[in-house]
Amino acid sequence: MGIFDQIKQGVSVLDIVAKYHAQPNRANKVCCPFHLEKTASLSIDTKQNIWKCFGCGVGGDGIRFLAKLKDIEDFEAAKILIQDFNLRIDFETEFSKTPQGQLREYIKDCQRHIGQTICLTTQKDLPLSSISYLCIV
Ligand SMILES: [Zn+2]
Repeated sequence: MGIFDQIKQGVSVLDIVAKYHAQPNRANKVCCPFHLEKTASLSIDTKQNIWKCFGCGVGGDGIRFLAKLKDIEDFEAAKILIQDFNLRIDFETEFSKTPQGQLREYIKDCQRHIGQTICLTTQKDLPLSSISYLCIV
């Protein structure tokens, strides 16, 4: 199971909307944070664990809600949810299995390689602080 599915199993959309935005009413509706309105038109489907605003048309799962609310990437939202809801998910391990995580590791490897190459070839010309920075990356 992927990291997003694990989070969706661990925390409901209802809890996410209530924690970061507003407590839904008895019909599981809240005023939408993504457009101006006075009557609640953002509806939460507790069975499918998704949300949809019938005013502006946006919707998705709980992770998407937090990501859109904070204007961050879904993976960043996932990380916040794991922390805030004390979910027993190792973000770094799960993230490294995803294409985005593998790309991040590849970029880190490249940075390491470039840093080492620069350290070996131009060590004398660089100030000490920049050498140690490149070597650590
Ligand atoms: Zn809306």
